[in-house]
Amino acid sequence: MAQTGKIGVTTENIFPVIKKFLYSDHEIFLRELVANAVDATQKMKALAGCGEFKGELGDLTIQVALDTEAKTLTITDHGIGMTAEEVDKYINQIAFSSAGEFLEKYKDQLGNIIGHFGLGFYSSFMVSKKVVINTLSWKEGASAVRWECDGTPEYTLTEGERTERGTAITLYLDDDATEFGEESRIRTLLNKYCKFMPIPIAFADKTINTTDPIWTKKPADLKEEDYLNFYRELYPMQDDPLFYIHLNVDYPFNLTGVLYFPKIKEQMDIQRNKIQLFCNQVFVTDSVENIVPEFLTLLHGVIDSPDIPLNVSRSYLQSDSNVKKISTYITKKVADRLEEIFKNDRTNFESKWDNLKLFIEFGMLSDQKFCERAEKFALFKNTDGKFFAYEDYRKAIEAEQTDKDKKVVYLYATNLEEQYAYIETAKNKGYDVLLFDCPLDAHFVQLLETKIPDAVFARVDADAIDKLIRKEELSHPELSEEEQNDLSAIFECALPTGNHYFVTAENLGAEGQPILITQSEFMRRYREMSAVGGGMNFYGEMPASYNIMVNVENPLIQRILAAKTTATAEKAAAWSAERAAIQQSLDAVAEDQKEERERLQNELDRIRNERKAEMVHFAESNDLLHQLTDLALLANNLLKGKSLNEFIKRSISLL
Ligand code: ADP
Repeated sequence: MAQTGKIGVTTENIFPVIKKFLYSDHEIFLRELVANAVDATQKMKALAGCGEFKGELGDLTIQVALDTEAKTLTITDHGIGMTAEEVDKYINQIAFSSAGEFLEKYKDQLGNIIGHFGLGFYSSFMVSKKVVINTLSWKEGASAVRWECDGTPEYTLTEGERTERGTAITLYLDDDATEFGEESRIRTLLNKYCKFMPIPIAFADKTINTTDPIWTKKPADLKEEDYLNFYRELYPMQDDPLFYIHLNVDYPFNLTGVLYFPKIKEQMDIQRNKIQLFCNQVFVTDSVENIVPEFLTLLHGVIDSPDIPLNVSRSYLQSDSNVKKISTYITKKVADRLEEIFKNDRTNFESKWDNLKLFIEFGMLSDQKFCERAEKFALFKNTDGKFFAYEDYRKAIEAEQTDKDKKVVYLYATNLEEQYAYIETAKNKGYDVLLFDCPLDAHFVQLLETKIPDAVFARVDADAIDKLIRKEELSHPELSEEEQNDLSAIFECALPTGNHYFVTAENLGAEGQPILITQSEFMRRYREMSAVGGGMNFYGEMPASYNIMVNVENPLIQRILAAKTTATAEKAAAWSAERAAIQQSLDAVAEDQKEERERLQNELDRIRNERKAEMVHFAESNDLLHQLTDLALLANNLLKGKSLNEFIKRSISLL
């Protein structure tokens, strides 16, 4: 019955095309061939199941075998096999032309297509110089068929020698595809693509797959331990997960899977590409972006759905209605599960919060729907390690922390050690301080302010506590311009160079700290946000600026100011008089006498500079000033290196 022919394809020779466009993904040929063998075997089981086939099914294991001498790879199944007519129809005509059409249609974007489904059998030519099919159909009276093709559109179809039902496909490996003749390479590929296929697959006499992975089972039939074991099998190097979710729906789309919440402590721990996408237990890809919302790519596990279109480009995926539904469904399931644990097992939820927080905050920041759900179960953790649901927290602080404008002020710290003094001051006032120490928190605080009505978030060290939560208007010391300049000159002289300082006089009570160093909430937030990324780099590049609040009601400060007055009294009186005189002349000079006016202005500048120099001179030798400033710097972790050393020496000599 020998038949030779030319395969009906539009492209004259599709093999060079196959090789060229699919170069990076040659390895998927193995998945395609084994998946075909699985299909043929499942069809056989179905025929036996419905009684149409009455014989013995026999051992249905699919064999993958290497012949290193002959450089061939053979995949043998005991499925339905093919008759000569079927080979002609499915291999010569349909498969060939669909491969051709597929390549025509997608050749511009092949790199984008998930797993390159649809090429099927012909992907074997990516790695072979010759392919031989030996097959015997299950049908009664069928005779064996041998098909051979050497990579040109010409094939031969002859009588075969196969005596067992099923199909053996032998690839004669190309000279540039010898890697697929190595046992370790094939084992790796089988493990990647075929590990959970539903028919047993043997390679070198060992079964390499699990035919009924847990996502195909009913949740009721599984124990906690089964989920954990499956996780360990998928990710042997990872810590155990926090929770899992079993996904199982068949309407309006079909989706099964198990997702795990990994432990995430640091940003560095974040590992994407951990969710594996399957289609009927055939591995497709481990990059699921555009299929699930971005924050869910932090999860681990498996999703299996025949309803995710696999032969479309990535950018199209997002607009696919099934993909949208699937994405919404998974988000909802994740929120359901978290809410359920929050409600029923609060202690467990709290104990895992630190590892869960980054995931939930990222979800809230990036997904509106998830955010709405998460507001009900997300937790605040305060600096004492206590947890609160958002609503409960508000109730807890409302009475004490509402300011004169009826805003509830949420105080937070980002570092327990560095902001210790401020946290203590706030707590002594009866206030509570939250801990926001995660890298996303700078962005998260912004989100919370928009979500929680009448709320303001302030870092404890952003200002004096009575200014952070203003209960009434605070009185302000009245300083003349000269006095203000003196104050700035004196204190700036005692502060490290390289930053911006705004020195102000404050009434913070005789008991209040002498000097308070704070960083404006606004500036600091933007600097932090630009540090974690967020497009506001302008702020990141600015020098740090600090507010230096000098408490003029504090007796130690009063001592410094009094010393200054005494030390500079004589000169100050002279300058004041001189200044007043120049000012008077200046007022008398007409606007158009530019030169004279300029001369007088320069005189004023000279006095200002002389006065400043005198203040610096005073400040340099005032130990109390340096000691107090250094203490304030120390409380903010700003005293380092040489300055720290000098502080220690000075402290010892003062003692
Ligand atoms: P697809 O599997 O997407 O239909 P393929 O090119 O992989 O496309 O295969 C074309 C057809 O060839 C299959 O639909 C099937 O009818 C037949 N076929 C391929 N491999 C086998 C096999 N191992 N056993 C029986 N039939 C097969």
